[in-house]
Amino acid sequence: MSIYRGRFAPTPSGALHFGSLIAALGSFLDARSHGGEWHLRIEDVDPPRVVPGSADAILRTLERFGFEWDGPVVYQSRRGEAYRAAVASLIDAGRLYGCDCTRKLLKENARIGVDGPVYPGTCRGRGLPLSAALRVRVPASRIVFDDLLAGRVGCDVARECGDFVVLRADGVFSYQLAVTVDDAELGISHVVRGADLLASTPRQIVLQQALGHPTPSYLHLPVALNEDGGKLSKQTLAAPLRDDDPLPALLRAAAFLGLEGMGEVGSLAEFRQLAPQSWRRDTLPPVRGKRLALA
Ligand code: GLU
Repeated sequence: MSIYRGRFAPTPSGALHFGSLIAALGSFLDARSHGGEWHLRIEDVDPPRVVPGSADAILRTLERFGFEWDGPVVYQSRRGEAYRAAVASLIDAGRLYGCDCTRKLLKENARIGVDGPVYPGTCRGRGLPLSAALRVRVPASRIVFDDLLAGRVGCDVARECGDFVVLRADGVFSYQLAVTVDDAELGISHVVRGADLLASTPRQIVLQQALGHPTPSYLHLPVALNEDGGKLSKQTLAAPLRDDDPLPALLRAAAFLGLEGMGEVGSLAEFRQLAPQSWRRDTLPPVRGKRLALA
């Protein structure tokens, strides 16, 4: 019997908003409708991005919205040991090298790939001490995976991203490393998250392969856009969810995700009962503008 273990992994850089609710609800419903577990991870690996108090506010909002998670909440800020062990094993395998390129230098010299500047490999052969920023050598092979919504996705990570950072010069582990280590350690079988992270997935698969971890199934959900066509995010000041009135936002999120038969739902209890039964992957709206689905 295969085990379904999903997760929701918000960054505590502000309150949850409608865009994060879509990722929370989609991952929750996909897990519950498959009889799976749903875990919660607070992605506070990057101290400058963390807004004090927002992790607690996120947990409170999720509770008020009727979400129930399995197991203890995982905080990335407490997982340094696991990330250090992963970096050590990548060093042992000869996969990392030191890099002292400044952001400015990269901005001026790098080509733009699927997710920003492509690292041109400047420090690859320099043999710098492993005390600066650390980058992983990306093999020259194509990563291909089948997204449960977008279909087959392929990416030449060496061309589209280049060797990427796993440990920053300021000692902060990168998002790509932390997520890969955490998803593997928690035994996550299904990653359901916003399509804004589709371009990160091939890099996470590169790390899974380098660390000998299995690759989970992926489902990247369409992302809610604001009126200007930009992604709703904390940076664009998307309105925080209202803890005192969860049902309207839940119904809007359910409609966005293509759930049918929710029109008559009048209470949070009814929503919680009906939504997992109404969840269907094949009525999800398509992901638009995905530059990556090329395979
Ligand atoms: N922490 C990321 C965010 O809030 C999500 C990471 C993930 O789901 O892999 O956008």
